[in-house]
Amino acid sequence: MPISGLPPYDDSNIFARILRGEIPSTKIYEDEWALAFHDINPQAPVHVLIIPKGRYCSFADFSAQGSEAEIAGFTRAVGLVARQLGLEVPGYRVLTNMGEHGGQEVPHFHVHLFGGRSLGRMVPAG
Ligand code: AMP
Repeated sequence: MPISGLPPYDDSNIFARILRGEIPSTKIYEDEWALAFHDINPQAPVHVLIIPKGRYCSFADFSAQGSEAEIAGFTRAVGLVARQLGLEVPGYRVLTNMGEHGGQEVPHFHVHLFGGRSLGRMVPAG
């Protein structure tokens, strides 16, 4: 169950369907803990999504309920994908949206990896 009184994990969400192979994705990396693929609506020259294999709605769930192995494996996968894409020297941004104010659309925890240009301010003014 998710924490914070949020809805339970929905196995029909689009990333769950990608994990099950029911919907195609442009996979660039996969291991025991994570799957990485290109965002369908890129906001930067490089815009990759990295998702854990476990059923976590958001960062809130993952950080509270993920096992040490899941958290470590997923975090290492994020760093590895960025490295493999050659983003370390120019730099990159890792971001996760959580809940309504975070602007989360897909209720399976994911991080966005952005790169390929200078990314400007962290959060738009206003
Ligand atoms: P968020 O607002 O953090 O939940 O972001 C969800 C992201 O998923 C958005 O950037 C979408 O463009 C992306 N997205 C939605 N459906 C797909 C899909 N089938 N393949 C790849 N990216 C997707």
